Amino acid sequence: MTRLPGAASLAAMIAARSPEIAAVDLARCDRCGLCLPLCPPAAIRLGSVDLLIDAGACTGCRKCIAPCPVGALRMGLRA
Ligand code: SF4
Ligand code: SF4
Repeated sequence: MTRLPGAASLAAMIAARSPEIAAVDLARCDRCGLCLPLCPPAAIRLGSVDLLIDAGACTGCRKCIAPCPVGALRMGLRA
């Protein structure tokens, strides 16, 4: 019997196929937190002094890019 992947493993599979992921320009980011709830897989976290994007979780959906009020987020090629 074939088992369907769970939501977490499905997100990981999609992320693995996406050639692009989000990246943050820390010189621009003011840590407003607006982008955090916009990220479907919750790949964005506020650290103690910076913003962290989990490259393994980011699916490259771009939902965080346009809403950033200071243009601190952009897409880049996955390393
Ligand atoms: S929306 Fe932009 S400025 Fe605000 S925390 Fe996210 S990246 Fe930083
Ligand atoms: S591109 Fe999508 S998955 Fe990646 S950090 Fe932005 S909202 Fe999250």
